[in-house]
Amino acid sequence: ASAFSGKKVHVFGLGGSGIATAQALVEGGATVLAWDDNPESVARAKAEGIATGDLRDADWNGVGTLVLAPGVPLTHPRPHWSVELAQAAGAEIIGDIELFVRERRAHASDAPFIAVTGTNGKSTTTALIAHVLVSAGRDTQMGGNIGRAVLTLDPPLSERHYVVECSSYQIDLAPTLDPSAGILLNLSPDHLDRHGDIDRYAAIKARLVAGSRTAIIGVDDEYCAGIADRLERDGVKVERISAAGPLDNGFFADSTILMRAIDGQAEPVVSIEGIGSLRGRHNAQNALAGLAAALDCGLSATEIQAGFAGFPGLEHRMEQVGRKAHVLFINDSKATNADAAAPALSSFGRIYWIAGGLPKQGGIESLRPLFPRIAKAYLVGEAAPAFAATLGEATAYEISGTIEAAVEHASRDAAQDAGSEAVVLLSPACASFDQFRNFEVRGEAFRKAVLALPGVEAIRG
Ligand code: ADP
Repeated sequence: ASAFSGKKVHVFGLGGSGIATAQALVEGGATVLAWDDNPESVARAKAEGIATGDLRDADWNGVGTLVLAPGVPLTHPRPHWSVELAQAAGAEIIGDIELFVRERRAHASDAPFIAVTGTNGKSTTTALIAHVLVSAGRDTQMGGNIGRAVLTLDPPLSERHYVVECSSYQIDLAPTLDPSAGILLNLSPDHLDRHGDIDRYAAIKARLVAGSRTAIIGVDDEYCAGIADRLERDGVKVERISAAGPLDNGFFADSTILMRAIDGQAEPVVSIEGIGSLRGRHNAQNALAGLAAALDCGLSATEIQAGFAGFPGLEHRMEQVGRKAHVLFINDSKATNADAAAPALSSFGRIYWIAGGLPKQGGIESLRPLFPRIAKAYLVGEAAPAFAATLGEATAYEISGTIEAAVEHASRDAAQDAGSEAVVLLSPACASFDQFRNFEVRGEAFRKAVLALPGVEAIRG
């Protein structure tokens, strides 16, 4: 029986994960009342047979739990009213990942459960690990902040592996998160809107690894390095990873060779040489985390190498979409601000850069050190004039206006490039909403324009 059998539970937030949550609770024998500030979401839940009602008018007597959707403010800038009501009623406040971990514990499953967090690279690392496990023949479910909500995944079996991406919101709402391997990739002062300050944000992310049987931690930033030291002092099994330089103990990248060091003795384990979807130093960090997690699951280096080699990568994240002779076309539409565009710009030499869209604060000033890699920029959308002003005289640019015109002009110029590899890169450093519904639609427009060019070979479907 479920831990919530016979219990009264309120659910606030009825997006995809909220509806799955309410359904899972009802199936587990709970009495559920659900609500959302958005009437359309309430209507959708009702159509799914979920009992709905405004929680402000509801009876909170005997309600032990409020399940909150991720993103509903817990503290910052101030708590959502449902949080205040739950606190007043003395109810615990948790999220769907907490329900999932309790369910998994109830099944006493000791199959691997890998949880992934960090400021950047979560989705790539999660998808990579799931891919490696599946290609090694393991029964694997992937979800959380990527793809399916955890409560819509197939239920725990003794052999079933889970790879779950967790945002800091989700960790905040999962007080007993206990993965077999927890991964903290990196921390940078991002997403501070809800969590207030970096120390609190770091503390939330650290909880994921603190509760892990094996804590896999990227030590290339000071916050994570400090967390690794602290957990180790507390007796947690820590595996350090570094894409920046050698370690005495842990996993590090020596160019494209992933090494494992034990007490100063380093040995090569796998290579990411020539794997397009794992190109660039940031991806070396993701691959190192994947390597440590896969070894923790008992996979062999041979299995991991084969899994890495077949990893298709994620769409819109430095995704190779086509090639024509020495010109490679890359869709990095997910890079919606300058920080997110930096890894792609750092990963290539002769770049024909398509950028612009709806500008973000700060523009592309922070990318200035990377300008020498840009052979020419093709500017689109509302940000074009401001980007042109920042690029200035030292970097060639044109105002192309649309993605289609930019692709056509960039491919024409890149074809003339004398280098051994030239890259037409969409990495906009902007939101898409001035011209597109979202970054995915923008990435599709780029792909379509690229594949319409004569002589371009598609790299993936
Ligand atoms: P997340 O799920 O954390 O948003 P993704 O895996 O979707 O991260 O990657 C989004 C973008 O972040 C990528 O296109 C790349 O530019 C950048 N990125 C990926 N991995 C890393 C990393 N380990 N460190 C820094 N930046 C990264």
